[in-house]
Amino acid sequence: MPPFAPGSVWLVGAGPGDPGLLTLAAAHALAHADAIVYDALVDDSVLALAPATAVREFVGKRGGRPSPRQSEITARLVALAGQGLRVLRLKGGDPFVFGRGAEEALALAAAGIPFRIVPGVTAGIGGLAYAGIPATSRDTNSAVAFVTGHDASGGLPDDIDWPALARGAPVIVLYMAMRQLAALTAVLTEAGRRPDEPVAVVSRATTAGQRVVQGTLATIADRVRAAGVGAPAVIVVGEVVRLRDRLAWVPGDVAPALDPPPDGATSEA
Ligand code: SAH
Repeated sequence: MPPFAPGSVWLVGAGPGDPGLLTLAAAHALAHADAIVYDALVDDSVLALAPATAVREFVGKRGGRPSPRQSEITARLVALAGQGLRVLRLKGGDPFVFGRGAEEALALAAAGIPFRIVPGVTAGIGGLAYAGIPATSRDTNSAVAFVTGHDASGGLPDDIDWPALARGAPVIVLYMAMRQLAALTAVLTEAGRRPDEPVAVVSRATTAGQRVVQGTLATIADRVRAAGVGAPAVIVVGEVVRLRDRLAWVPGDVAPALDPPPDGATSEA
């Protein structure tokens, strides 16, 4: 392993939850860090791998309180490294996928702080795998798009060309999209996707609480509401979702519908 030098920052992806998905470099960083600056989506079981002597600083959102501003987080990283500490900046998933890792790395570069980027398993790939849904499969798609469901204002991102996305990406994986789920399914249908196209929502992927809701563009928003599953979740739209019928492998991850089935109907598998 490369040495974790005092006065440097490692910007590390912690994966979606399961500590088994940490890279060896991430485990090495956890074992040797003096200070760990971590986000809300970093699983406790991952943090538990660090020695008790490492200082832990939480910089995520908690209990409705807003997270510290990005500029405050980067200033903190620079300050801790300036004290000669080995600073582990730990982020959920991959630091460079919807993680603002680029902004932090740019600030470190500008401040002349030595840094290293350690990629992690992103939720849009690892979470799908744990749900038995391949991101690509030769029979269904030669392309896949990762899309964020909201921009800085909380609404649907306005810089996405939805018709082009609907035409060009047979599989669309949406992050941070649960609040906008109904709006997103409407926008994708309007942009040309079939209402009966399969969709899966994978909530708390790779953790003991993983739950998967399946439906179509037309039904998924209602089903998610009925099942009561919430964020964090990745949403996958496309024919690959059908493979879950044969590839689901995590026991007990089918979210039960909370609504009773209509009279006389048997619930679907
Ligand atoms: N850098 C992260 C993404 C951060 S944005 C990565 O590469 O995975 C936060 C979003 O990631 C959440 O809104 C959700 O869409 C997704 N996410 C993160 N962890 C998840 C998990 N365990 N299960 C499902 N989705 C997850």
